[in-house]
Amino acid sequence: MERVLILGAGPAGVATALTLRQRGVAQITLLHRPLPHSRYQTGESASPDVAPLLRQLELPQLLEQGQHWVCRGIRWRWGGAELAENDYMMQGRGHGWHLNRHRFDEQLRQAAEHRGIDLHVANLTRLEPIAQGGYRVTLSEPGGGAQRHDYRVLVDASGRGAHLAGKLGVRWQPQDRLTAYLRLGTLAKESWLKHLSYVEATPHGWWFVAGIPGDQAVVVFLTDVEIGRQQGLVQGSVFDGLLAQSLWGGQGVSGLEARVRPYAAHVGWLPQVVGRDWVAVGDAALGLDPLSASGINGALADGIAAGHALADHLQGDAGALTRHGLALQESQRLFVQERQIHYGRERRWCEHPFWQRRHLA
Ligand SMILES: Cc1cc2nc3c(=O)[nH]c(=O)nc-3n(C[C@H](O)[C@H](O)[C@H](O)COP(=O)(O)OP(=O)(O)OC[C@H]3O[C@@H](n4cnc5c(N)ncnc54)[C@H](O)[C@@H]3O)c2cc1C
Repeated sequence: MERVLILGAGPAGVATALTLRQRGVAQITLLHRPLPHSRYQTGESASPDVAPLLRQLELPQLLEQGQHWVCRGIRWRWGGAELAENDYMMQGRGHGWHLNRHRFDEQLRQAAEHRGIDLHVANLTRLEPIAQGGYRVTLSEPGGGAQRHDYRVLVDASGRGAHLAGKLGVRWQPQDRLTAYLRLGTLAKESWLKHLSYVEATPHGWWFVAGIPGDQAVVVFLTDVEIGRQQGLVQGSVFDGLLAQSLWGGQGVSGLEARVRPYAAHVGWLPQVVGRDWVAVGDAALGLDPLSASGINGALADGIAAGHALADHLQGDAGALTRHGLALQESQRLFVQERQIHYGRERRWCEHPFWQRRHLA
């Protein structure tokens, strides 16, 4: 029995599946839960590091073939009112991308199917460890009925919340209550936001703005859910008021949709990222602060590393998963350190709860 079950067909799950396939594992099932069409998929800015990762997965043309835009870097106001720019090209890093995120994930899943990976829509309802190793898994099918299968290893790639680990008794631990309040708008034809992202720190949180393919823009205010509730941020008029107070002021973006969509963007992680015949990858293992803008790349890199560790494990390397777990713990430590440094650079509103919490974290 060499069957692998991966819960979640986002970037981390697909990268794990493709790597396992490259390593010769034949029977891989990716459990997919399609999002409702009305739901906008967040995560639209990928730094230049995405290209080498896609090459490792033998998908060098993926971004050229989708509806994605070249992103040259980031403009920001952080730690002061002056505008600064981080130009990827000037740093010799090539360019990043503004993604049509829904399409990007779809492209990854199509690539997986194309390589013979089974993409399956079903609900994982029950897990039982098998004494000799592996798990017996009950899947309930959308049309009704349930099936039971035995898998040698399981992968939790279900994103923030880590549903599979939860079923094994390991709970995802949120470290903050960061929430993204998001609206889509229309991007002016000549706007610099087409090829740059924008970040601005404010007393109660920070703005993230980016052009997205389809001549749209995504305008996001990130703050703690308590602050969002206190201020009534789900109301368009409150959102407009905050935007008017920002130094960017909404230039180049018009016709913001009426509704404000809140998304949980909590930083968090699993206290244990590998166990007996299972591993967690991507946001399920470690959900980064969107400020790092490296969640997608991190998920791909993590999936590749986990795929190799699992392949080694399946070939009888008894220490492979433990080593992988230790490497993930180290990434988590580095991430916490970097996050403190980033938030520590903004000292203008130390007395405001949003910044106080981050300076003390
Ligand atoms: C508001 C916001 C903005 C962000 N902006 C950026 C950005 O600009 N750039 C960037 O790099 N990163 C960004 N990120 C982070 C990035 O989106 C994530 O880090 C990345 O998507 C992680 O990939 P993943 O595969 O681990 O998880 P996900 O992309 O969350 O994929 C998990 C998959 O599992 C599926 N799933 C969940 N539960 C089940 C289940 N029970 N059964 C079957 N399937 C299931 C989900 O439907 C989903 O398809 C942002 C995150 C947020 C919240």
